[in-house]
Amino acid sequence: MPARILDGKQIGKEIQDELRQEIAQLRALGITPGLAAVLVGENPASHIYVRNKIRACQELGLLSEQLLLPATTSTEELLAQVETLNHRDSIDGILVQLPLPAQVDSQRVLLAVDPAKDVDGFHPVNVGNLVTQREALRPCTPAGILEILRRSGIALAGSRAVVIGRSDIVGKPVALLLLHEHATVTLCHSRTRNLPVVAHEADILVAAMGRPAFVTPDFVRPGATVIDVGVNRIDDAASAEKIFARHPQRLEEFRRKGSILVGDVHPDVAEVAGALTPVPGGVGPLTIAMLMVNTVKAARLRRAKSQAVVA
Ligand code: NAP
Repeated sequence: MPARILDGKQIGKEIQDELRQEIAQLRALGITPGLAAVLVGENPASHIYVRNKIRACQELGLLSEQLLLPATTSTEELLAQVETLNHRDSIDGILVQLPLPAQVDSQRVLLAVDPAKDVDGFHPVNVGNLVTQREALRPCTPAGILEILRRSGIALAGSRAVVIGRSDIVGKPVALLLLHEHATVTLCHSRTRNLPVVAHEADILVAAMGRPAFVTPDFVRPGATVIDVGVNRIDDAASAEKIFARHPQRLEEFRRKGSILVGDVHPDVAEVAGALTPVPGGVGPLTIAMLMVNTVKAARLRRAKSQAVVA
């Protein structure tokens, strides 16, 4: 039986609908949460990501602004901009879109963001709060994955979870969040031996590697839940023909557009898994939804600290 498709667009919409009520309550108190997105240079993908984030803010009635800086911006200039945003009371969330140009020291810039406004959850203070399970801003993609699992009724306590990929923004934090939900977690990476065998033990398999269609059906225990985080654009016909050999509609899409998005999970996994997130339309929409959640949460937590609003 083909896998149940876990519809990230629908779940993201549910979350945003719930958030509307919370935003209305805050607005009644005279508070409109605000997000500032800082974008350096002309990376087309980054421009699309930021545009989608700003659009989501506008749809929810949040304040939003884009700070577009030239590709030649120095670390010092960017630090000065971040400092200004740190001090502006109308800004609750600061997002510095990655990657930054090579001349910019990304680590210094991310460290400069006020942890209370760090809606990406990348600052070491928020990482520490995640590790120790303190109230804080959680990284958006991992938090979104947990929402998909929770809202789809996938049992986590006592389950075996395998995460492939150990990045700071996806693999490590999602492993911690699963651990906090009482899953038994194995975190894999490029040096893991017998990866398909390890992955096959999973009740919940999270693939976050950036390797198109790498996770093939032999990695997946029949009935397992598979979360595909990867977003890979392929534009060579030979790869597309191979990956989508049994998926004529996707192949047709590739031929029409000349390129196509594919996850880290091979599409044939749908015949083995019990549940699967699609690419696109799985984890991606949750990343934006959780950014909105974090912006509203940052507004509440900051005001709660100054005792104007009860969290
Ligand atoms: P990353 O920083 O490049 O990390 C990739 C991880 O995968 C590394 O830990 C690497 O291991 C591991 N890996 C690579 N090849 C492997 C292999 N052959 N076997 C086992 N492990 C392997 O990537 P990332 O930032 O976490 O992103 C991962 C993917 O998720 C990308 O496709 C990205 O575009 C996507 N993504 C999607 C969203 C979304 O909203 N949908 C958000 C963020 C990221 P080592 O550490 O040993 O090198």
